[in-house]
Amino acid sequence: MNGNDFLALANAGVQQLQPYQPGKPIDELERELGISHIIKLASNESPVGSSPMAMAAVRAALDQLHRYPDGSGHGLKSALAQRLGLSVAQVTLGNGSNDILELVARAYLSAGDEAIYSEHGFAIYPIITLASGGVPVKVPARNYGHDLQAMAAAVTERTRVIFVANPNNPTGTWFPRAELDAFLAAVPERVLVVLDEAYFEYVEDPNFANGADYLAQHANLLVARTFSKIYGLSGLRVGYGLSGTAVADVLNRVRQPFNVNSLGLVAAEAALDDLEFLEHARDINTAGLVQVAEGLQQLGLEYIPSVCNFIAFNCGREAMPVYQALLREGVIVRPIAGYDLPNHLRVTIGTPEENERFLESLQRVLG
Ligand SMILES: *Cc1c(COP(=O)(O)O)cnc(C)c1O
Repeated sequence: MNGNDFLALANAGVQQLQPYQPGKPIDELERELGISHIIKLASNESPVGSSPMAMAAVRAALDQLHRYPDGSGHGLKSALAQRLGLSVAQVTLGNGSNDILELVARAYLSAGDEAIYSEHGFAIYPIITLASGGVPVKVPARNYGHDLQAMAAAVTERTRVIFVANPNNPTGTWFPRAELDAFLAAVPERVLVVLDEAYFEYVEDPNFANGADYLAQHANLLVARTFSKIYGLSGLRVGYGLSGTAVADVLNRVRQPFNVNSLGLVAAEAALDDLEFLEHARDINTAGLVQVAEGLQQLGLEYIPSVCNFIAFNCGREAMPVYQALLREGVIVRPIAGYDLPNHLRVTIGTPEENERFLESLQRVLG
């Protein structure tokens, strides 16, 4: 048999997939260009590392690596439940929150089922939908953000899931409580709403909707969160879902028994208690957002106002050559042409020094 036939033998949805393009790793660029002093502002990683308490917990757990992790994740689930005023049975742990999203697709989407998501929405939603045999339904964005009214109106008999990100990656846009209220009221109860809150800890606006507050009223709501972003634990892969107990029970049936590793479990539990680190990470980001936005403005570049730890900006021309020129400067950012934004690049907020270096490089490159 010809090796190429193995693509034709894959599930129909899988054949339509393109692999997810992650941010370029620093050592890959080092190998390619033989340069050093590279900064990576491409994957919305923490510029301040991770919580010292989380790192200490990881060190203390190193002599137990020969044991399987606690498959029930009891310590972390209890800590989350207690903090949020929920029951342990409402919490599902994931190998990153991408794992939670995938559990949803696997449990709720079969051939022909529709999953709604927004234009410029997170790339994983259509990938996991297609991989499950489902049909991704993309709803046009409004001002780069989710048009929740249009998304609710797109529901059909075949709709099983709606993915909404608040705030959204890669645009950094968000919607207030009133819009979420109206949306949840409009969506039929048989449709599962997945509210992806990967960046909610960064948002300081009092009108921002905290998904956990909606769980008591909406049995069809699942909130997905992560330790990858503000907690700076991307490398350990820990995320969680919050939902009614019925949805959590379903996700637990499809979840791999040891989907969260032992170091991730202890690190996340410790990180939850490190309020000082959390505040520091948020402060650095808030100041960095202002610094980068002002810098972009001075360069005469349009950007999408963001409440996250990144900003998408318009290069005023095709973004790919700008991205490549920045790579030669040792600055890795993220092209987002795959999100229907071919003239935009997304830059993650770094330390003040990294932000400055990015802005200087960008000025040279555009010069
Ligand atoms: C980063 C991100 C996630 C979380 O990814 P992990 O798997 O937890 O690392 C989820 N949703 C969005 C929109 C993100 O940007």
